[in-house]
Amino acid sequence: MAKQLKITAFMKAKPKLEVKTDELGVITIDDSSMFRKFEEDDFVEDYGNTTKRKKQGPVKSAIKEETRNGPRLCPFYKKIPGTKFAVDAFNFGLIPGIQFYFLTHFHSDHYNGLRKSFVGTIVCSSITAKLVMSQIGVAENQFIIVDPHQPTMIDGSNVIAVDAFHCPGAVMFLMIMPNGKRILHTGDFRASPEMEKDVYLIEKPIDSIYLDTTYCDPNYKFPAQSETLKAIQNITLNHLKIHKKTLIVCGTYSIGKEKVFKIICSSLKSNVWVSSAKLRLIKCIDDPEINSYLVHEKSKAQVHVLPMRDINHQALRDYLKQYGEKYTSLLAFKPTGWTEGGKSLSELKPNVKENVTIYGVPYSEHSSYSELERFIKFFKPKQIIPTVNVGNPKKRESMFKIFVFVFCSMEYHQFSAPMDEQSENWPIDLKLFHPIPEYLFLHEKANCISVEAILKMCGLSFEIEYRPNAEYMSPTGDVPFIKTGNTLISGIEAIIDFAKSYDKSFTKRSEEIERDTRVYMNHFHQVLTDAELYFIWCHEKIVQEYTYPRYVSKYPWPLSSILYYSKKRNITKRIKSGSEPITNYDEAIRRVECELENLSKLMVGPYFFGDSPTEFDALIFGHLTAIQTTALPDDALSIITRENEAIYNLCGLIGARYFPGLLLTKET
Ligand SMILES: [Zn+2]
Repeated sequence: MAKQLKITAFMKAKPKLEVKTDELGVITIDDSSMFRKFEEDDFVEDYGNTTKRKKQGPVKSAIKEETRNGPRLCPFYKKIPGTKFAVDAFNFGLIPGIQFYFLTHFHSDHYNGLRKSFVGTIVCSSITAKLVMSQIGVAENQFIIVDPHQPTMIDGSNVIAVDAFHCPGAVMFLMIMPNGKRILHTGDFRASPEMEKDVYLIEKPIDSIYLDTTYCDPNYKFPAQSETLKAIQNITLNHLKIHKKTLIVCGTYSIGKEKVFKIICSSLKSNVWVSSAKLRLIKCIDDPEINSYLVHEKSKAQVHVLPMRDINHQALRDYLKQYGEKYTSLLAFKPTGWTEGGKSLSELKPNVKENVTIYGVPYSEHSSYSELERFIKFFKPKQIIPTVNVGNPKKRESMFKIFVFVFCSMEYHQFSAPMDEQSENWPIDLKLFHPIPEYLFLHEKANCISVEAILKMCGLSFEIEYRPNAEYMSPTGDVPFIKTGNTLISGIEAIIDFAKSYDKSFTKRSEEIERDTRVYMNHFHQVLTDAELYFIWCHEKIVQEYTYPRYVSKYPWPLSSILYYSKKRNITKRIKSGSEPITNYDEAIRRVECELENLSKLMVGPYFFGDSPTEFDALIFGHLTAIQTTALPDDALSIITRENEAIYNLCGLIGARYFPGLLLTKET
C-alpha cells in the first residue's frame, strides 16, 4: 500500500513524462528498428583491439563452495586463471586442473586441510617447507622450494617469491605468465614501503593482485611494527628500573611475532626460554639471532615465551610463584592484531594485579588500511581480487564499497560474474559489445554497467567483447549492444525487454508496477544521462582535460575532429533543448541532488521495490557506479552521489551480490 501511494504521488508530480528517442540516450520502447539482421562484415576489426572473457564458470564454483551444496569446491580466488596453480587451497582435496599447490606461509588458516597423505606438489619457501615437514609430515620430495628473489620456472611461468613481512617463511608470489602477464598473490602480508623498491615487483606493471584484505577498512589504524617494538622496549626498561627482579613473558600462538621477544632479549641481553612445542617451530625457522638467545633451562632465561591462552592474571601469578625470591614481579606482553578503538601507543595502559602486569600491545602482521591503500596506489594493478573476508555477502558488500567508493579513482572495468541458476532457454551465443574502456564515456559506462547488472540479475550468461568502434557497429549508435545469432539489439530498454523475455521468473509483478517501473526508468535514466552528458560535453575543464583528448584519440585526424565537433553539437543541442533543459553548472548539480533525494524516497526496502532487485535498481546502480568510478577533473557529481546514503547503500548491496569478484582497473 505504502509503495503504491509513493508511486501514485510520483506519477502525479511528474505528469508530463515522455519517452524520447535519439542516438545517444533514451530509447523508444518496442522500436523494431532496433532489431536488424546481423552481417558478419559489420564486425571487421579495424583496430584489431578485441578482448573476450568467458563469464561465469569459476565464480559459480565459489558460490557452491560457500553454500556447501554438494562437494566442497575450490573458490575462484584461490585458483590462478590460465595456470595449473592454486594458492593456499588444501581444503578441497585434489582440485581438477590443478597441479601445483602454492602455500604462502605456515598459518593454519592457509594450510588447513593439508595432511601427511597429501600427494600433490607444494610450492613454498624453505622455511615453510621445513614447518610442513616437521609439523605435518609431508615428504620432502613433494616440495618445490621458491625462496625470496630466486626466480623459478614452474610449468612455463616464472615464479618469484618476495618477503611478505608477515611471519617467518611467509612470501608473496609474483607469477609471470608465458604471455608476460604479471600476477601477484600477497598471501598474508604487511605492506611496506620496502616493497616499492623491490626490483622484481617494480620491474614492470602488475596486472592482477590477489590481495590480503584482512584490515581493508579505514577504521583499522594501528602503529608500525617498529613503533610498537620501541614502545615494548621502553616499557620493559622502565619497569625494570623500578622492579629489578622481573620475569618477562611474551604470549605467542604458533609462528609469528618473534620480533617481540627478540627486541626484549637484545635490550636486556637476556636469554629466552620457549615451550617444547614452540621450540620445534623455532628450529624450523632457524633464525641465528633467536638461536643465540635460546636456552633449555628456564632458570637461565629472564624472558619466557608462553602460549597466548596463559597470558592472564591467574595463570601468570601461579607461574611466578615457582620462582620464589628469584623474581618478585612479572611483566607480560600480549601482542594483538587490532583492538577496538584503535589504541595508539601513547594510550597503552597496563592491566596490573598485585605483582603481575599485562600489556596488550597492537602488533599486527597484516597491513593497516593506510598501508594497504598506499600499496595499491603505488602498484596500480589493473585487477584486485580480495582473498580475505569475502566469505559472505555482507562482508563482500562492505569490501565493494571500500574499493569502489574509497579508492574511487579506480575505474570500473570488469567484474567476475556470479550467476544464479542459468535460464534454460537462454541463447548460449550471447555477446555483449562494449567500447574499449579507454574510449568509454561516463553515460556509456553507466549503460554498460546497468546492462551487465540486469543480465546478472536475470541469471543469464554472456561474453563481453570490447570494440573501439562499438558505437558505429550498434544499430542505433547506443552502447552497449548485444548480439545473439543474427540479431543485434541496442538501447538499454530493448536489452532489458529481451532479457526479461527469456527469464519470466524475474520479478513477477502486477501490470501497474510494471508500468510504473518503466516510467521511473525513463525519467531517471534521462535525468542522470543529461547531467552526465552536461559534465562530459559542456563543462569546460572536463571537456579540455577528459572528453576531447579521449574522443579524438579514437580516430585519425581530421576524421577525429569532424566527429568530435559533430557529436558535441548534437549533445549540446539535446541537453539545452529537452523538456527540462540544463543551462548551467549549478542547474546540473541541483537537479542531480534533487532527483537523488526523490529516488531515495521511492525505496520501500533494501531495493526500490522491496526485497528483490529489478531493472530499475540495475539502472540506478549503473549510473551511480559509473559516476563513482570515473575520475574527472571536477568530482562534484561523485561527491553528491556519495552523500545520499540510501542510494549509496543500494549500490553496495548490488555490487556485493552481483559483482563480488572486484576486478577493477585504475583510470589513467
Ligand atoms: Zn597468516
